[in-house]
Amino acid sequence: MNNSKTAKDYTLGLRQSELFTKTRKQAPSDEVARNAQLLIRGGFLYKEQAGVYSYLPLGLRVLEKVSDIIREEMASVGGQEIRLSTLQDKSVWEASDRWSDENVDVWFKSKLQNGTEIGLGWTHEEPITKMMKDHIQSYRDLPRYPYQIQNKFRNEVRAKSGIMRTREFLMKDLYSFSRDNEEHARFYEAIALAYMRVFVRVGLEGITYKTFASGGAFAKYSHEFQTISDAGEDIIYVCEKENLAVNKEVYNDEVLKDLGLTKDDFVEKKAIEVGNIFNLGTRFSQAHNLTYKDEQGEDQLVVMGSYGIGPNRLMGTVAELWADEKGLVWPASIAPFAIHLIRIGDSEKVVGQADALFETLTNEGIEVLYDDRDVRPGEKFADSDLLGIPVRVVISEKTIEAGTLEVIDRKTGEVQNLTQEELLADSTTQE
Ligand code: ATP
Ligand code: MG
Repeated sequence: MNNSKTAKDYTLGLRQSELFTKTRKQAPSDEVARNAQLLIRGGFLYKEQAGVYSYLPLGLRVLEKVSDIIREEMASVGGQEIRLSTLQDKSVWEASDRWSDENVDVWFKSKLQNGTEIGLGWTHEEPITKMMKDHIQSYRDLPRYPYQIQNKFRNEVRAKSGIMRTREFLMKDLYSFSRDNEEHARFYEAIALAYMRVFVRVGLEGITYKTFASGGAFAKYSHEFQTISDAGEDIIYVCEKENLAVNKEVYNDEVLKDLGLTKDDFVEKKAIEVGNIFNLGTRFSQAHNLTYKDEQGEDQLVVMGSYGIGPNRLMGTVAELWADEKGLVWPASIAPFAIHLIRIGDSEKVVGQADALFETLTNEGIEVLYDDRDVRPGEKFADSDLLGIPVRVVISEKTIEAGTLEVIDRKTGEVQNLTQEELLADSTTQE
C-alpha cells in the first residue's frame, strides 16, 4: 500500500464520527474555482481569505502524499532535503538586484522592531547561493542538489484559481550546482524525466507536456510542465506527435525552426503550469561570487539551475480534473484514504462486523476512513461521493446476509460483491 512506500506513517484508520470537519452543500459564494469549491465542500480546505487557504485533516493528507511523491523522485536524482528560512535578508537580494519592488512585483516585506527591512521568501536562489558558499570550495564538492518543500509568499495580483494560485503556497524548489554546462545539462535532462514521473504518479499522465518557455539570460528556453485544462491560465501549443508543447510567450517562427516543426503540427490549448525548470547559468553564482577550484587550481563560477513544483497547485489541478458532478475522484496514489468503509444500520450485528472489518483492514496496513456515524444512508453516500476516496466498501444487514461486501469503484461506479478475503487480496496488491 501507499504507506510502506512513503516517508510518513499516516494514521491508518480514522472513524468519521471523530473527524472534526464537516461537509457542506454549498461552497462559499465568493469561491469561483471548481477545485476549491469541491475541496471546501468536502472539508479538505478552509478559506481564510482570497488566495489564502488552510489545510484540514483530509486536505493535509492529500498534500503530504503529493509532497512525498515529489520527495521520492527528487531523491532518485540525488536531491537532499533542506528547509531554508522564510524571513529574508535584504542585502542578499540586493546583490542580484531582486530586492526592489520595481524589479520584483510579488514581494511581501516587513520591518524588524529596529526598522531593518526584511522580506518573505518568494523563491530562494539568492539565499541558497550564499549558503552554499560555505559548502562548495573545490570541484570535489560538485555537483550538489539541495531542495526543499517550503512555504513561499507572493503578493499575486489575482487569486481566482482556488489553490492553484495563492499568496501563500508550498513550493518544492531544487537548486543544482554543477561544474560546467555539460554537467548541468545532464542533470537538467534527468530532473525533467523525474518531473514527468511525478506528474504521472499523481494522476496527470497523458495530459502534461514538457513545454518550451522563455529562458532568461543564460538559456534560450526554460521548460514548463503544463497540464491541459480549461481552468488553466496559460495558453500553450501542443504537438501531439512529438509529445511536446510551446508556451504562447515564445511561440514564433524561431522556435518552430529550432524544433523543425510547422504551425500545422500544433493545437492551441489552455493549460496549468504545474512545474518549471530553469538553467540559471552563472547569474547567481556571479552575483554572490560562488566559485570552486577546478583540477588545475583555477577559480571557476558554479553553474546553477532551479527547478520548481507547486504541491498545492498540483493537488488543485488533480482536484479540478479528477471530479464529476457528485464530487472529487482521487487517484489512489494521493487519495486521503484507500478505502471508505460505510456502515449502514446500527444493529449490534452490523456494528460488530463493521468494527471488525475496520480493524482487519487497518491491521493489514490499509488506510481506511470508517463512516461509523449515525446518519441517514443517503447522507453517507453523498458525502462519500463528495470525498472521492477510490474504493467504497458497504456493510449492512443485506451484505451480511449475502456473505459478501459491496465494493464500489468511485471512478467507474462499478459494483462488485466480494468476500472479505477477496477485498483484502485486492487491496494489498494495489500499487
Ligand atoms: P506562474 O507563471 O503560474 O505565476 P511562476 O512561473 O511564477 O508561476 P515559478 O516561480 O516557476 O512559478 O514557481 C514554481 C512552481 O510553483 C510553479 O510551477 C507552480 O507549480 C508553483 N506556483 C507558482 N506560483 C504559485 C502560486 N501563486 N500559487 C500556487 N502555486 C504556485
Ligand atoms: Mg512560470
